[in-house]
Amino acid sequence: MLIDIVSVFPEYFDVLNLSLLGKAQEKGLLEFRVHNLRDWTHDVHHSVDDTPVGGGAGMVMKPEVWAQCLDDLLDIPPLEDIAQADEQTSEKRGSNAILVFPNPSAPTFTQKDATELSHADHLVFGCGRYEGYDGRLPAYYAAQGFDVREYSIGDYVLNGGEVAVSVMVEATTRLLDGFMGNHDSIVEESYTGSEGLLEHRQYTKPASWRGMDVPEILLSGHHANIDRFRRDEELRRTSAIRPDIIARLDCRALDKKDRKF
Ligand code: SAM
Repeated sequence: MLIDIVSVFPEYFDVLNLSLLGKAQEKGLLEFRVHNLRDWTHDVHHSVDDTPVGGGAGMVMKPEVWAQCLDDLLDIPPLEDIAQADEQTSEKRGSNAILVFPNPSAPTFTQKDATELSHADHLVFGCGRYEGYDGRLPAYYAAQGFDVREYSIGDYVLNGGEVAVSVMVEATTRLLDGFMGNHDSIVEESYTGSEGLLEHRQYTKPASWRGMDVPEILLSGHHANIDRFRRDEELRRTSAIRPDIIARLDCRALDKKDRKF
């Protein structure tokens, strides 16, 4: 998978070389290219923003600079060449990338979205700053035939898209085949599978610590009982913390013992 990230603070992404993400690059599962949006400016100040049309506080990221950058990353030929080319101008040109813009006013990024992105060959993330990017940008690339996504990572406003992109990149890339040493670690997790329940609590040794014991059943070696105990805890925790997930469950898929929840 090729991941292009565009930001006015590319240093934010130095951490991509650490830990499992660094190993995934060494293994050839992933390639990151981090770009400074200012490299696509032509003025002496390398400006990427301008005042909002209609007035208001702050600055808005200019569509021209973003488009020059994105056209390059998406292998879209210059507009003049397209005009001279064949008549099928509505046909999509360039790479098959999914284009992702972080935006606090967009739908929330979920595990399902991470799973979808993990199937792409090429992802391009554009980090907003200031009051955000010009609103025509996502619509323009969608009209060019690209799969364009805007996601929020939660109901709060950050200074820029860098942290949001880091979150989405990490959630997505850990799902790639071969990324995790043990594939089961990503199968048995919160928000995963058809039900998407929260995971049960986990415990390690010692069995007794500072007067607190792990649930006795986990020491029993009785796998069916342990599975039942964990399933009950998942249902109980999900009901308490995320009733919206329980409300979406298909009751027909529950077994009789589940139904007490
Ligand atoms: N004026 C925007 C608003 O009120 O919705 C906020 C702009 S924010 C200061 C600047 C940039 O940070 C956004 O364009 C986006 O790329 C990123 N950002 C901030 N909060 C975010 C969040 N919760 N999720 C995803 N991206 C976020």
